Amino acid sequence: MNVAVVTVGDELLAGRTTDTNATWLCERLADRGVGVERVTTVPDRIGDIARVVNEYRAEYDAVIVTGGLGPTHDDLTMEGVAAALGRSVEEHDAALAWLEENGYARADLASGTTELPAGARALHNEAGVAPGAVLEGVYVLPGVPEEMKAMFETIADEFSGTPTYRETVVADEPESALLDRIADVRERFDITVGSYPGESVRLELTGTNEETVEEAAAWLRERVESPDGES
Ligand code: ATP
Ligand code: MG
Repeated sequence: MNVAVVTVGDELLAGRTTDTNATWLCERLADRGVGVERVTTVPDRIGDIARVVNEYRAEYDAVIVTGGLGPTHDDLTMEGVAAALGRSVEEHDAALAWLEENGYARADLASGTTELPAGARALHNEAGVAPGAVLEGVYVLPGVPEEMKAMFETIADEFSGTPTYRETVVADEPESALLDRIADVRERFDITVGSYPGESVRLELTGTNEETVEEAAAWLRERVESPDGES
């Protein structure tokens, strides 16, 4: 299963808020063996949200959108998603009923709070107020991280893929000096290798067979300088 993540918010693009939602979702999805192929941030603008959601839903198995769900003037995500799917936005009876059962009086809810794209399944917000929505493979979650996380956990089972295994090998050598051994390990084992230089070079070996990944990591560890000078 391959998905795209879309985070919505002018404040993310202005650098005022760090996009921890995207990182958290990518990690949780990777843990479930789901491939994340795109992470895109768009402004609080209906046309931009609609365009990206429309493109990604054609290309991936699911699209997860976070942010901009509340009832304020700059919360336009539901309208953008509805536009992408050619739907209107309308009052969702079950979402309203759930909030009423959970102690919110209808009169106290800001207008628009329970308006979702027509035909959507509502996702309850255990940690806040604004409900999320699912429709045609598009999942709309809140922007507030704790609300987003709690809501994702209620739908996590809908995301699954091939489990992958990962081993890290740290090499205390210049990245350019490692090219031959990286090529060798890729040739010998059915794995992919990511190379991430920093103070040392971190080599991430990934594959779908746990034993193969462990064997490849052991093979490589014997052939690189480790930072503590053991090999
Ligand atoms: P609310 O219903 O409270 O308005 P919302 O779903 O409309 O929530 P936003 O208005 O987009 O969400 O964002 C609310 C707050 O959540 C932001 O001020 C910011 O602190 C945080 N937030 C939003 N998006 C992200 C993100 N991608 N990563 C981390 N924090 C975020
Ligand atoms: Mg908001």
